Amino acid sequence: MGVSVHSGPPPAPDPLPIPVVDNHTHLDLARDDGDPPDVAAVIAAATAVGVPRMVQIGCDLPGARFTIEVIERYAALLGGVALHPNEAPGLHDRGELDSAKAEIELFAAHPRVRTIGETGLDYYRTGPEGVAAQQDSFRWHIDLAKRTGKALQVHDRDAHEDILRILAEEGAPEHTVLHCFSGDIEMARECVERGYLLSFSGTVTFKNARELRNALSVTPMEHLLVETDAPYLTPAPHRGATNAPYLVPLTVRAMAGVLNVDVPTLCTAVAANSERVYGPW
Ligand SMILES: [Zn+2]
Repeated sequence: MGVSVHSGPPPAPDPLPIPVVDNHTHLDLARDDGDPPDVAAVIAAATAVGVPRMVQIGCDLPGARFTIEVIERYAALLGGVALHPNEAPGLHDRGELDSAKAEIELFAAHPRVRTIGETGLDYYRTGPEGVAAQQDSFRWHIDLAKRTGKALQVHDRDAHEDILRILAEEGAPEHTVLHCFSGDIEMARECVERGYLLSFSGTVTFKNARELRNALSVTPMEHLLVETDAPYLTPAPHRGATNAPYLVPLTVRAMAGVLNVDVPTLCTAVAANSERVYGPW
């Protein structure tokens, strides 16, 4: 079933009736042994199916430098910069964290950088020895978002409780996005109550993701965003292939089905939410 990695890229889905934003993508990252994507071609393919704008996320120093380059070159792109929670412990151990933070802080001032992220906690890929460094780094990024007046994009892998606790302790920025939301109904309700946005990726289309679809089903539309997290998390039926922003329509249509709303209505909401959080392109 589906298209395997070896049969070439998945075909373009039907275009969306109203353009939306891919609010989290990594145009600097190659999948497996592949080449990094051709940015102009990625934008053209996405634009052709109703995804003409995206937020490029650079989550280490090379990624952040790349982000500044492409957001200056392409009107379709805004940027996000941060030190990923799996980057922070190593930088800390090597004594490089302070200089890395200083560079991120410079990039964060760029007028086309509109979000600080992805930051947060990852208890799946980083063991207990890295928790303190991750939490310190998360707190620093929350503060940076508030000082710069930019949105915050949160990465949460197997760390729901600590994410919610630390956001509450620090005070969340005005626009706080849980990127690639992975919580259950209870967490979704808590996030909505606090005014956070939930960004759904291709994982919501996965056959085994019933709990995630339940979480989506209780989320009001004004709290929703959509993303690829490309090159990862390719939506069904192309799971396993390399992801790219032109596949967003598959996720949007699956979300509309879960929410029981028509596709134009969802697109309108997602587009408006994106502009509210990130500002105009
Ligand atoms: Zn990401």
